[in-house]
Amino acid sequence: MTTLEQIEELRHKLNEYNRLYYVDNNPVVSDKEFDEMMYKLQELEKKHPEFFDPNSPTQRVGSDLTNRFEAVHHRYPMMSLSNTYSLEELHEFYERVVREAGETEFTCELKFDGTAISLTYEKGRLIRAVTRGDGTMGDDVTSNVRTIRSIPLVLAGNDWPQTFEMRGEIYMPRAVFAMLNREKEEIGEQPFANPRNAAAGTLKLQNSATVASRHLDCFLYAMLGNDLPYKSHWENLNKAREWGFRISEHMQLCHTWEEITDFINNADKLRKELPYDTDGAVVKVNNYDIQQSLGSTAKAPRWAVAYKFQAERALTCMRSVEFSVGRTGTVTPVANLDPVQLAGTTVKRATLHNADQIALLDLRLGDMVYVEKGGEIIPKITGVETSMRHADSKPFEFTTKCPQCGATLVRYEGEAAWYCPNSTACPPQIIGRIVHFISRKAMDIEGLGEETVSLFVEQELLHNIADLYDLNPTIIAALPRLGDKSASNIMESLKRSRNVPFPRVLYALGIRFVGETTAKNIAQHFKTIDAIMAASESELAQAEDVGDKIASSIKEYFADPANLDIITRLRKAGLHFETAEKEKLSDALTGKSIVISGSFEHHSRDELKALIELHGGRNLAAISGNVDYLLAGVKMGPAKLAKATKLGIKIISENEFEKMIANDTIQSSSTDTSGQTEMEQSDQPIVQQSLF
Ligand code: NAD
Repeated sequence: MTTLEQIEELRHKLNEYNRLYYVDNNPVVSDKEFDEMMYKLQELEKKHPEFFDPNSPTQRVGSDLTNRFEAVHHRYPMMSLSNTYSLEELHEFYERVVREAGETEFTCELKFDGTAISLTYEKGRLIRAVTRGDGTMGDDVTSNVRTIRSIPLVLAGNDWPQTFEMRGEIYMPRAVFAMLNREKEEIGEQPFANPRNAAAGTLKLQNSATVASRHLDCFLYAMLGNDLPYKSHWENLNKAREWGFRISEHMQLCHTWEEITDFINNADKLRKELPYDTDGAVVKVNNYDIQQSLGSTAKAPRWAVAYKFQAERALTCMRSVEFSVGRTGTVTPVANLDPVQLAGTTVKRATLHNADQIALLDLRLGDMVYVEKGGEIIPKITGVETSMRHADSKPFEFTTKCPQCGATLVRYEGEAAWYCPNSTACPPQIIGRIVHFISRKAMDIEGLGEETVSLFVEQELLHNIADLYDLNPTIIAALPRLGDKSASNIMESLKRSRNVPFPRVLYALGIRFVGETTAKNIAQHFKTIDAIMAASESELAQAEDVGDKIASSIKEYFADPANLDIITRLRKAGLHFETAEKEKLSDALTGKSIVISGSFEHHSRDELKALIELHGGRNLAAISGNVDYLLAGVKMGPAKLAKATKLGIKIISENEFEKMIANDTIQSSSTDTSGQTEMEQSDQPIVQQSLF
């Protein structure tokens, strides 16, 4: 391979990894591997300046731009950070700065592992939140960011500049991540690889209510603007704290190399105890004048550097691989390892996620593998030490048959997982579905747990969820470890479960990809199970947050006669299959379908939805020929506006909407305390400085 070919191959691979990481939020290689490849490319490009290309990934930040949001110019470019895994290189940075600028103050901070955000404040109010994008333009995710409680919508005090920007990192706390991934696995969705990807993916969701439910959080780490209170980073961040910004307490002003290394050593210990992920420490020059004089490269400032921590990992032998079958039939490979110590615990098993990952790592039985613990509870295999591989080892084959019932596995288009299609007779799927049905967020049936359900399935008392309501207390009482008391508890809670409202019953059915929120949205939209069963795929996709994948999964569920039989039996057992009729205030909007887009001065979007329904109308999520009105707020989605105009749909303002329903009694008070009056965006912003 020629040098140019080598360079081109690296550029191509790095661009692809950037896309998978920033846009799909689904990285396929470890950060270390990515960074090593980037380093190799940098070195080759340095040696061969004749192959310079301004579009090379060494010259540009990896872009997170999508076409789902309005793209906005950054007033100041949002750069990356140079990074190093070596204290020696960090020391070179320190020496260079001191050589060029004389004695210098540095700040040391944690490097939060999330996704970068730029927040613009005008007259003390948040007016815009934009992702890093390609560094020059980012996605406007303001309505999603407004749901993050620690980001102030209105500032405290009154000594802030008229216009200024705060930069920070939005992240997902580890506990939230673990819960979210558990829920994703529950409903058969591919879990997020780590909290960083979960945070970045969540920030790009279309529905702010779902974003709000994911409990993102944010640390701010930089202030930018023309008339900032101080000329140093440290003092401005302390000021920002007074205005209500969340600034990390783990920050230090350092004057010597020893102070910097002390901070780094402490941070490496501290990070294991923090409830959020950090992947290093950032060392920055404190004084803005010195920052300016040091300048920046095409991609990163020359006055700051990230020292990245090595992910904690252990090397051990992979002895065998087992396959476990989940409630929705997903077959997950789990590796059995020689026990090894990692981050304070003994690790014997590690997840392998799916067949693609096994192929990518080219895993073989007997391989020495690297195991890492990310935000997840179960560690994962992140690499193979090929230098220790036996010469006769053979690539590992993913099973083609269900390890539990022997059915031939299937793979759905566009998905990485393999499934056992034998949903009605594969024991772990039967048990899993019943356990899901009785769980707290679903039918909340006390007295039954996984062990008892397994026993009932074994005794052939249960084959599916409908059998629960035919259980006979005398038979149950006679089973081992049970008795009259347990039997009567179970019967009592089954009786109580008949009062569970429809959205939870729908969730309890365990339709693939239909989680708690989706079930709520669908139930609210269609009101009855009959309407859901009668709906076409495109009608199903009209419900909030329901895409083609969920719609087709619902259709598939109701196309199965075994499921229809279960619904009939559950209906007979007295479960709720309709939403309770809501109070109605008028018929002002009867027969009218309305789509809401943008943000509003008097009402939150949820209030508007409720108002539409209270006045007899229907709220739809997407523009189509069935829509009568588009209720347009500030910063409505440009795609929605274009589509509505094309279809000749009447566009109404919040005031016009209020007039339409004005004749009735309702006087909804705005619960929006943020004073979210949107200001028009400033004219095309000027890129003035090279700060990040
Ligand atoms: P980066 O994440 O290494 O560093 C820059 C970012 O650090 C800033 O944008 C900011 O968001 C964040 N940050 C956190 N705390 C900060 C603080 N206190 N002060 C300033 N900034 C702070 O760089 P990047 O350009 O965002 O991403 C490149 C890195 O991402 C690579 O080095 C690699 O590790 C990883 N990556 C991995 C893959 C993969 O496939 N595994 C692909 C692309 C990128």
